[in-house]
Amino acid sequence: MSLQNTIYQSSIFLQACRQFDRAADILGLPTGVCERTKQPRRCVVVSLPVRLDNGKVETFEGYRVQHNLSTGPAKGGIRFHEHVTLGEVAALAMWMSWKCSLVGLPYGGAKGGVIVNTHSLSKPELERLSRRYMQEIAPFIGPNVDIPAPDVGTDEQVMAWMVDTYSNHAGHYDPGVITGKPMAIGGSLGRREATGESVAWFVKAYLGDLRIKPGETTVVIQGFGNVGSEAALALEAWGAKIIGISDFTGGFHNPKGINVREAISHVAKNRTLRGYMGGNPLTNNELMELPCMVLIPAALEQVINENNAANLKCRVLAEGANGPTTNAADKIIDARGDIEVIPDVLCNSGGVIVSYFEWLQNLQSYYWSKEEVFEKLHKQLAKAKASVEDKKCQYNCSRREAALLLGISRVIEAKTKRGLFP
Ligand code: NAD
Repeated sequence: MSLQNTIYQSSIFLQACRQFDRAADILGLPTGVCERTKQPRRCVVVSLPVRLDNGKVETFEGYRVQHNLSTGPAKGGIRFHEHVTLGEVAALAMWMSWKCSLVGLPYGGAKGGVIVNTHSLSKPELERLSRRYMQEIAPFIGPNVDIPAPDVGTDEQVMAWMVDTYSNHAGHYDPGVITGKPMAIGGSLGRREATGESVAWFVKAYLGDLRIKPGETTVVIQGFGNVGSEAALALEAWGAKIIGISDFTGGFHNPKGINVREAISHVAKNRTLRGYMGGNPLTNNELMELPCMVLIPAALEQVINENNAANLKCRVLAEGANGPTTNAADKIIDARGDIEVIPDVLCNSGGVIVSYFEWLQNLQSYYWSKEEVFEKLHKQLAKAKASVEDKKCQYNCSRREAALLLGISRVIEAKTKRGLFP
């Protein structure tokens, strides 16, 4: 498959493919196996006419890419963002395949997206768009086929509208089709915190390996949505100092420590960090280069690239976001050798792990306590960390390569055992 000729062509899809190629080289995989495993299985492009509050109709474009269906139903979030592209959704779907496989979930990988600036929509408009998107992708998904969840620009409320739309078509309530739902309609305790919790868990575990204590830990976080704010809360509770935060409107620096709950209340009232008074304003670019123990990108892809990789001043880079580091930046960081990278497929895997728990609870109509959810989550994270460290030693490679080659090799094993059909 030539990467020049695919409909997914984009710098982010290329980034995911290059990462795959690197892991495949280490494993010595034959070309035919690589092509079959790398290429997304299928995609749908949907057109979404939505009536706006002013009576006019605007038509949005949306996507769902199912990358791998060989190891179980596909799993992956839905992103609402103005810069969504089919290539970006395909890359995110590919990363979901490796992530689910790496942490041992019986899922393939998928992702969805709609090109929209949610800040320009009223709540009723957002509801109509969410329902229309679900109506269009409903024939392609299901609790045994493909199970969406929240991502950038979508949340529990959007998931509630979507599960309601799907269930109205099905003729009965079908909670297993979507995860990240509100508690009142079959959500799981701990799902809202899960991704940030896993980022914080890995940060604590790797700092522990480096013998760095909570009191010595300063943290900078880019992106203050679900993942960024929950990671901030968990690390603050542990005793770390959050000295920098940002969202798409800009960032804030406070060497004495940002009060995370106050910042969260500000966003709840104002939708963004704009006007926040708890720190000195700075740009997102400046934020990334602040001296700190831990840097957590928790917004979008490719924010660590050849322009800033050499200037990072962190000891640990914990990838809350998917794909935040370009291939060029990886090379620079590997050559520097002074930064411990916790790669996205490992670091933010808590989100999909607790989504899996939510799906299990829905299928059984039997619900767990938050303690049970977190205990099972932490066990799964510890197992994944140990297997990644093992592979890193075995192949003498980077932690990203180790995580990817683990995820990729398990998918390949499943595909090989199943064989080709017909
Ligand atoms: P979110 O919509 O809740 O928050 C995104 C945050 O990023 C917001 O604060 C937004 O303002 C900020 N942002 C957007 N563009 C930015 C820019 N150019 N510069 C700085 N900040 C910017 O989304 P989320 O669910 O927290 O997802 C964040 C990242 O984590 C994404 O990469 C997503 O794929 C990944 N992720 C999310 C989950 C999950 O469970 N939600 C799971 C795994 C990975």
